[in-house]
Parts: sequence; structure tokens; C-alpha cells
Amino acid sequence: MEKISSKNRGYGAEMTVVTYCQNRKESDDRSKFRILLSFGQHGRELITTELALRLLSILSEEEFLPNMDRAALNKTLNKLVIKVVPMENWNGRKLVEAGELCERRNGRGVDLNRNWSVDWGKKEKDYDPYEENPGTAPFSEPETQIMRKLSVSFEPHVWVNVHSGMEALFMPYDHKNITPVGLPSKMMTSMLEVMNHFHLKDHCIIGSGGGSVGLVLNHIKILSTLILLFIWGEFSFVETKKKRISNLTFLNSFCSVSTDY
Ligand SMILES: [Zn+2]
Repeated sequence: MEKISSKNRGYGAEMTVVTYCQNRKESDDRSKFRILLSFGQHGRELITTELALRLLSILSEEEFLPNMDRAALNKTLNKLVIKVVPMENWNGRKLVEAGELCERRNGRGVDLNRNWSVDWGKKEKDYDPYEENPGTAPFSEPETQIMRKLSVSFEPHVWVNVHSGMEALFMPYDHKNITPVGLPSKMMTSMLEVMNHFHLKDHCIIGSGGGSVGLVLNHIKILSTLILLFIWGEFSFVETKKKRISNLTFLNSFCSVSTDY
């Protein structure tokens, strides 16, 4: 487990990164398949961080998934290095916990999912200047700087950026309504279809984020790696300022949905 911090113009951010690797050797970071899982980019999406903690609890064998063959799972896990960022937006989360229940931005009002360089500052038809404040420049925010550094040094084969608010499995692109052409894109689509069918009861929308969500996804152009975005959750609404946020409010629904995921 490591803590990474960064500062910019008097504003600091800190992130905890947990690395999972069985019998870790130095060479594993290059030879094994690398997965980056990030949660809690938006402060109000509390449930995503809970999912991260459940996942870590399962990986550390503190708890076990029902109907899961642990030996088979371990065989797969042995081939992986997984880096988990349970809470990308710690400062935003603090605001939510202090009562700003609908806050999605970071501690100084920037949407971290609009602070990346691809199409930075572009205003879509449904652009909301409050919700989607992109910051003063691409990568102006310490949280985005930390995630960029982490992704560049780790070079993940797969990056799963977990959000809540709808049931969807999104893939690039996010700045247009199409998915990339070619075999990798077809493979990603079919992988998402299989996951949706066998684990998520065909509840999820699959396809490109289509310009309205997750510009982080487009970082794929820079990293040349595969990046997925899962918008996650079942709806249960907390109504504040006529906005709604999605978090599971009952333990049993949380357990069943997080087990599926
Ligand atoms: Zn989100």
C-alpha cells in the first residue's frame, strides 16, 4: 500500500494505492498482466469505494465469494498485478460526508473526469458548467496528475474506472458516439457482452460513452492500452437540490450487486 500526494497552486491531494500481486517479484510488474482499478472519482458516488473495499477484502481472503472456486481464482490471480485506487477524489468525498451530498467535483470545484487533455474544455450540448468544470487547464488538478503518473508508470493492459449512477459497461470512445474500429474493439465488445450476460443479468448498456461521460477513457490514445469504464449501480435516489445520486442504501442490495460485479 502506498500513499501518493501532489500539490498545485496551494491545493493538495492524496491518494492511497493498493498493489495486489501473489509472491511478488520485481520483474512481475513487467511480465504479468496489469490491471488498474480506480474508484471514487466523483465524490458523491460513495458506493464505488465500498465496492473497492469489498474487492480488496476478497483478494486478501478476508471474505470469499459464494460459489467461487478459490483454487481456480488463485490460478488466474497469480498471472496478474492489480493496482487499486479505492478513492481517487478524497477531498470531494470529504465535502459529501460534510453534507454536500450531490458534490461530484474535487475539493476546489473541478470535475476530475473533465480535466484530462482529450477534448479538454469542449462543451457538449448538455454541458453543465457547475458539474463539469474542467479546471484552468488540462491536468491542472493534483488528483488528475497523480492518476496520469500512475497510469504512465504502471502501463495497465486494462483500466477499469468505476462510477455509479446507471447500469452500463462503457468502452472508448467517449467524445463521439462510435467505438474504435478493428479487432481489439470487437474483442472488448464481446467481452463486455459475455460479462453482462453471465454476471449482470443483461441489465447493462454496452458501447461507447458517447461524449457525455468519462473523458478519461480517451486517454487510451496516449497510453495505447485498453481502458474500460464501468458505470455501476442500481438506482436508489437521494434527492437534494433536484439532483439525484445513485447509491445503494440497503445492505442486502449492496451485497448482491457487489457480488455480481
Ligand atoms: Zn461518476
